[in-house]
Amino acid sequence: MKVNFQDTKVAFKHRSNSDLQFAKWIFKLMGNPRLTNLMTGLTLFALKINFPVSWIVKPTIFKQFCGGTSIQDSDPTYRMLASNGIEAILDYSVEGQEEEKSFNHVHDELIRLIENAKQHSKVPTTCLKVTGLARFALLEKVNENKELSQEEKLEYNNVVQRLDRICKKAHDLGVKIYIDAEESWVQIAIDRLAEVMMKKYNDKSAIVFTTLQMYRHDKLQYLNDLIALSRKENYRLGVKLVRGAYLEKENERAIELNYPTPTQPNKESTDRDYDQALTTVVENIDVVEVCAGSHNEKSAEHLVELLEKHNLPKDHDHIFFSQLYGMSDNISFNLATNGYNVSKYLPYGPVKDTLPYLIRRAEENTSVAGQMGKELQLILTEISRRKQ
Ligand SMILES: Cc1cc2nc3c(=O)[nH]c(=O)nc-3n(C[C@H](O)[C@H](O)[C@H](O)COP(=O)(O)OP(=O)(O)OC[C@H]3O[C@@H](n4cnc5c(N)ncnc54)[C@H](O)[C@@H]3O)c2cc1C
Repeated sequence: MKVNFQDTKVAFKHRSNSDLQFAKWIFKLMGNPRLTNLMTGLTLFALKINFPVSWIVKPTIFKQFCGGTSIQDSDPTYRMLASNGIEAILDYSVEGQEEEKSFNHVHDELIRLIENAKQHSKVPTTCLKVTGLARFALLEKVNENKELSQEEKLEYNNVVQRLDRICKKAHDLGVKIYIDAEESWVQIAIDRLAEVMMKKYNDKSAIVFTTLQMYRHDKLQYLNDLIALSRKENYRLGVKLVRGAYLEKENERAIELNYPTPTQPNKESTDRDYDQALTTVVENIDVVEVCAGSHNEKSAEHLVELLEKHNLPKDHDHIFFSQLYGMSDNISFNLATNGYNVSKYLPYGPVKDTLPYLIRRAEENTSVAGQMGKELQLILTEISRRKQ
């Protein structure tokens, strides 16, 4: 059975008329690439000179894409999603930290998040970025397999300990933890850490999930390797499948430093590998648990068809569809209404710290043809439906 992703009545049932007018305004604003670039540049400059930006960011783009500034602050959104059959994955959106003090703070917040998820969710899940727990330059060095100094060895050991404590806590409380994928020049380091944690903690079910960016031309092979490894070593593989959020950055760096880009030659190849990855995980669903993190309707349809083809229940506990808060409610709410497992990443944190995430959302939506127009179109359809 097909799910109707164009049903805007279901998609926006949680939005008041004024919410819709607000979303229309935001998406119109972000649909203008020149304006988005200008705003991004100004925001980055303001941050550099310590000029406060919260007053403009918080009531606009932050309101659209984030739950709040703290776990408590995000509670109403968390509850709203839960009451619509959607699991909220609170995402402490702090990245690019540089000091041990900040990493320890992120660690402590993640422990609180795990406890909070356990208390409030049916399928408790959290997520993290390794760059929130480790210095970027250190991860780069590990990624390149460079010799670490004695001091760096100690520093890296602290990173592993922090991650291990988080995964152990998640394991003890039965909370799933998605390790996000980041730039390719730190991703090998992140992949290795995720593999170690999966092997250690995914004994009975998938607690730790690694993330595969299918805009990378080598990730389909990696998925097959991971499946073979988890079968051989007898642990459950947890994978979040995404297309990848750093396309322009990846390509620009590859040109600048003169190496072949790790990304696919075009969008079609990314789409092909993404859908093939879904097929592969469903064919191996006895050992894999998957989160399909995507706003692509065709991929969501593909996964719906795969479930049907393999006679799997819509709410198979190894299969989750997931979108980002503030985007693609037409997919999330229609899937949830039809009985599928759905979650939404719900970022939160101090406004200043969420800026890299918000800038990525803005850039992604202007650079990747279609998404912003699609969101706006759906909102306009619902506004006019309500007028009839
Ligand atoms: C729940 C969730 C979790 C996420 N977690 C992560 C994460 O951990 N790490 C991460 O990097 N991203 C993450 N993302 C973001 C994700 O990678 C995408 O940026 C975003 O979802 C857009 O892709 P899409 O599947 O929705 O589909 P679409 O909108 O159909 O595809 C857009 C994507 O296609 C790819 N693409 C576009 N043009 C080209 C081209 N010319 N050549 C090759 N590929 C191209 C890019 O990846 C682009 O983002 C997450 C998204 C969700 C919904």
